[in-house]
Amino acid sequence: MRLKDKVVLVTGGGSGIGESIAVRSAEEGAAVVVVDVSADAAMGVAAALEDRGHRATWVVADVASGSAAAEAVARAESSFGRLDVLVNNAGIVRDAQLVNMEEDQWDAVLAVNLSGAYFMCRAAATGMVQRGGGRIVNIASRSLLGNFGQTNYSASKAGIVGLTKSLALELGPSGISVNAIAPGYIETPIMRNVPAEVRKRAVRAAPLRRVGTPDDVASAVTFLASDDASYITGQCLFVCGGRSLASALEMWA
Ligand code: NDP
Repeated sequence: MRLKDKVVLVTGGGSGIGESIAVRSAEEGAAVVVVDVSADAAMGVAAALEDRGHRATWVVADVASGSAAAEAVARAESSFGRLDVLVNNAGIVRDAQLVNMEEDQWDAVLAVNLSGAYFMCRAAATGMVQRGGGRIVNIASRSLLGNFGQTNYSASKAGIVGLTKSLALELGPSGISVNAIAPGYIETPIMRNVPAEVRKRAVRAAPLRRVGTPDDVASAVTFLASDDASYITGQCLFVCGGRSLASALEMWA
């Protein structure tokens, strides 16, 4: 029960990694606010948690909208009295090589993945500062190191890490930690269109020789949100089976 009596808000909590974070947070004793652009997905996850005796609620919000993000945080605070842990997990891909990338592909990815985190952090920080504590965990990606066909996505995820480090400086004196997690290839719906050959290569390039599970990421989020990580801020933790190591790429890519 490492998150006992904490209030955790997870964006993109209706599917994949976010769903796993929501479930794990509830199992660790937290009340959970599932935020997603899809009402069915958010409601489904929150209802399943409540059926199992956990405290949960859901909010439909597009995190790329500043007002929707503020409303989601306000709903968390009114439902459970406060917000202790914000997990910025909502994210999308719109892959294309840069010369073929349309502006709407660029804009959509930056709006959800980067501006979404900005809007949510801004909305959550005020209450956390007033209460003198809190945790923010931003989900980046190993792609921040560079990934073919993902200039928009890589830029958004590298941006998240910059945001994380600067915000850690600003909020640290108020007892708030801000960290990022950079997952590698994780088997979720976002990867449904990835060709089998690319998946095989991802396994080969990871020293641990497997793709990740949503639970692998949820474990890292739980750690960073818990008291075990109380002296850690401004860091980016890679959860990618070692694929971020340059020597791993040389040996197996
Ligand atoms: P999924 O597509 O399974 O889940 C993402 C969830 O976010 C979906 O429920 C989606 O709703 C929701 N969402 C999308 N846009 C918005 C929005 N504007 N506002 C609120 N919710 C939104 O993806 P994953 O679980 O795989 O990804 C979760 C995070 O992890 C993302 O940030 C992703 O970039 C990151 N990541 C994933 C990796 C992987 O290999 N899977 C690797 C590295 C990082 P809907 O389905 O309706 O669009």
